[in-house]
Amino acid sequence: MRDVVFELIQKEYDRQFSGAELIASENFVSKNVLEALGSVLTNKYAEGYPGKRYYGGCEIVDQVEQIAIDRLKALFGVEYANVQPHSGAQANAAVFLATMQPGDKFMGLDLSHGGHLTHGSPVNYSGKVYVPVFYGVEKETGRIDMDKVAETARRERPKLIVTGASAYPRDWDFKRFREIADEIGAILMADIAHPAGLIATKKLTDPVPYCHIITSTTHKTLRGPRGGIIMIGKDFPNPWGRTTAKGSPIMMSTIINSAVFPGFQGGPLEHVIASKAVAFGEALTEQYSAYIDQVMKNAQAMAGAFVAKNYHLISEGTDNHLMLVDLRSKGLTGKAAENALVRADITINKNMVPFDDQSPFVTSGMRIGTPAVTTRGLKEADCIQLVEWIDHILMDHENETKINTVRQEVNQFMKKFPLYPEIG
Ligand SMILES: *Cc1c(COP(=O)(O)O)cnc(C)c1O
Repeated sequence: MRDVVFELIQKEYDRQFSGAELIASENFVSKNVLEALGSVLTNKYAEGYPGKRYYGGCEIVDQVEQIAIDRLKALFGVEYANVQPHSGAQANAAVFLATMQPGDKFMGLDLSHGGHLTHGSPVNYSGKVYVPVFYGVEKETGRIDMDKVAETARRERPKLIVTGASAYPRDWDFKRFREIADEIGAILMADIAHPAGLIATKKLTDPVPYCHIITSTTHKTLRGPRGGIIMIGKDFPNPWGRTTAKGSPIMMSTIINSAVFPGFQGGPLEHVIASKAVAFGEALTEQYSAYIDQVMKNAQAMAGAFVAKNYHLISEGTDNHLMLVDLRSKGLTGKAAENALVRADITINKNMVPFDDQSPFVTSGMRIGTPAVTTRGLKEADCIQLVEWIDHILMDHENETKINTVRQEVNQFMKKFPLYPEIG
């Protein structure tokens, strides 16, 4: 008898196929990415790095991992890449381990202003092991004020400055961040987990020339398997004067490699690394670049449609693939909006807005992103139709009849956009 788990996988496939996926951090990988992920490479132990493993029989996974590294280097134009972090959180943890001692101070974007848990939240290791200080966005503009970042940096003198966010709809001034970091002798890190695909295709400011170290996930706009990566644009000697037994300076790439393994992780997930390699290969194509163009066009179309219906967008719009809607002017909470929309098979997530007066379990906002629906094939007009349905539900969010009607329309509509026709 077939394991009940496979019935659940089929149900999850049906859910993904019939709904409109607007969670900004999600996407749909290609069949090839999926195939590599479900391969026999999961059977292999390969602690260490290509050519320097602690196990025998690694000749083939060495080649796989080297392809992943080489493609990632080409994709972002970097000198060094580590493809082993199991997730974005693990990538960040490894960089913190490599650059700080317990109790050291670092600076990140306030979680309630769009930052990530791993950027110093008190419930995360980053806020327990290290001492976080925060910069935020301005109440009036929803944007980061760089003069205030400089002020906080001069006052607090963090060892590490972290840029990047999970819910910030605007581009980043990495050049100015680097000037601030240099002024106080801090290391500058960019966590590009969300906009990685937009950066790889040169649609946003490139952090590579400015940030010492770059981390990312591989499963958001990059459209690969769940995982993390760490990169360095131009490798540099560690700033603490650590030397090898022979007295030569240890390069930062070596310190990061040791922080990932054996510092933070054991055996790498070679099936995931193979899948990352396939995804990086896809991201190097013209089709991917066109996909990212469409992701951004769709985000502009949705943002415009929300504004036309008098919704308040944080920072009044977006430069990237996501937008943050402040629902307070519509008399709704994020929780109520998420609950109503999910019942119509439109998946979004409730999200804190800057200066929110609700708890993280309720929130005043919703975050919406276009990467997943764009992979399904939706264009601008289709995205505007989604906003019509969202508004229709939110304006009468307890009306079950309306919600049911919209759900049927959404299910019918999404049938036009295939998801793994070869598998489903
Ligand atoms: C998603 C995200 C992460 C964490 O990624 P996981 O793979 O879920 O651990 C880290 N940083 C930022 C900014 C993110 O948006």
